[in-house]
Amino acid sequence: MKKTKILFNRVKIKDKTFPYVLKRRRGSRSVKLSVYADGRFVVTAPRWYPIYIIQKFIEEKSEWIFEKLKNFDFEIIARQSADKKDDYQKLKETARTLVKCKLEFFNRHYNFRYNRVAIRSQRSCWGSCSQKKNLNFNYRIIHLEEELQNYLIVHELCHLQELNHGDDFWQLVSQTTPNYKKLKKQLRTVKFL
Ligand SMILES: [Zn+2]
Repeated sequence: MKKTKILFNRVKIKDKTFPYVLKRRRGSRSVKLSVYADGRFVVTAPRWYPIYIIQKFIEEKSEWIFEKLKNFDFEIIARQSADKKDDYQKLKETARTLVKCKLEFFNRHYNFRYNRVAIRSQRSCWGSCSQKKNLNFNYRIIHLEEELQNYLIVHELCHLQELNHGDDFWQLVSQTTPNYKKLKKQLRTVKFL
C-alpha cells in the first residue's frame, strides 16, 4: 500500500473557491496546513482522520487562508500547469536525444550494459536506475547547466554496476567526475518547477 494518498479538493471561503491538495499520510499524527507563495495550498492529514475533522480544521483557519490566497487567480494557475504539461511534451524528445548522446559518451569509459532509456516528468526525482538495467531521466535535465547534466548521467550509469551509494559507487563516479561532491550538493539546491 502507498504511504500517501493524494486528493484534489476545494473549499469555499467567503464566496471564493480555493483548490487544495489533500495528502493523507499513514505516518502523520496531526493536520498540517501550508500555503505557498505560488498559491499552492496543501493540507496534510493522517490517513485515518475522518474528513469532517479536516474540514473543521480548515474552517478554523479560513480567515488566514483567505488572506493568503484572496489575490490569486486560480484560473491562471490552472493554465500555467497546463503550460508545464506542454513543456514536457515539447522538450521530451530533445531531452531523450541529449540523454542518449551523453550516455553513449560516458559509457565509452564505463562500458556497462543498459536496456531501456525513458524520459519522464517527475517532481521529485532527476533520474533512476532499475534492477532490470533500465534508466530513467527527468526531462528537466535539459534545464540544467551542462556540468550537472553530465553528473546526472554518470550517476545513473554507475548505478548499473553499484545499486547503492556506497564507497564503490562514488569511486566509479569519480573516475569521470572528480568534482562530483560539489555537483551533488549543487543539484540538491535546484528546485523542481
Ligand atoms: Zn543514486
